[in-house]
Amino acid sequence: MKLTNEELKQKIIELKNRLSVTVVAHFYQRDEVFEMADITGDSLELAMKTKDDNAEFVVFCGVAFMGQSVKVLSPHKRVVMPKAACCAMARMIDGIYFDNSIKFLEERGITKENILPITYINSNADVKAKVGEMGGLVCTSSNAKKIITTALGEGKKILFVPDRCLGQNIANQMGLKSMVIGHEGNPSEVDIICYDGFCSVHQLFSVDDINFYRKKYPGILIATHPECDPAICDASDFVGSTSQLIKFIQELPAEQKVAVGTEFNMVNRLRPKNTYILSSTKPECPTMNETTLEDLYLTLKSIDDGKPINEIEVDETTQKWAKIALERMLAL
Ligand code: SF4
Repeated sequence: MKLTNEELKQKIIELKNRLSVTVVAHFYQRDEVFEMADITGDSLELAMKTKDDNAEFVVFCGVAFMGQSVKVLSPHKRVVMPKAACCAMARMIDGIYFDNSIKFLEERGITKENILPITYINSNADVKAKVGEMGGLVCTSSNAKKIITTALGEGKKILFVPDRCLGQNIANQMGLKSMVIGHEGNPSEVDIICYDGFCSVHQLFSVDDINFYRKKYPGILIATHPECDPAICDASDFVGSTSQLIKFIQELPAEQKVAVGTEFNMVNRLRPKNTYILSSTKPECPTMNETTLEDLYLTLKSIDDGKPINEIEVDETTQKWAKIALERMLAL
């Protein structure tokens, strides 16, 4: 017989108390899974917080690149995922597409030595490793500006993967020239060359949505994530990473209305009143939403049975170079 959510929660708590596990959950997880976590945060916060954690197992409720980041930074830890879910954006690039992007630039007269790759943390370990091997580094949406400023100091062309929107938004903010591979532009004439990846969830917001809210509620603020299209970010009052958005919204006066352009689950639990979702379509991340309470329970049970499921493995070479790329970011 199928267990109810309350029964599942009871069993999860019992197993958590008995096993050497830390359950971590990204902000975009379903509410009932999020409630069961010992540590919550955005992707980098979770990798950093679990580094200092003493439990044998990290049970990661999120998407694959996040679990990989924990494993890369703390290879001695055993990382399991209740659902082997993949971020759609991270899946838009792999080692082969990365190599092809380098080739694209070489064919246009830019030598490999003159390219500095930067990968958004939303990429799989193989891409982070490629970036690390080329002397590049990782960035998050909150530190991208700082990372790019430092990288520009090396006097090289920046190849930014995989999120074209984040790359373009940061370039716009900094007054830099950018282009997207496969679109109009000459790599020799720009500062940042972006790979053509994107987050399907953050593409759901439109300038029409912004106009709708501004007309309906004069004085409303528009807050968006830099994974949204540059046209959306340009028309927003505040653009920030997940953690920056949380802080911005929570510090608003209670009566201030705000429409937010980012993932539904997070926005929904942020502020009970005067907070709106900036879309007529529910912007839920389908892969983040794959993890259910039952998956979490079955994963903990598999650890208890001595046969952990969905354990993250990263080969030694990938781990080494991906860690270098992540640590270059952390050093900044
Ligand atoms: Fe990936 Fe977008 Fe989902 Fe984040 S919201 S995990 S970037 S698909």
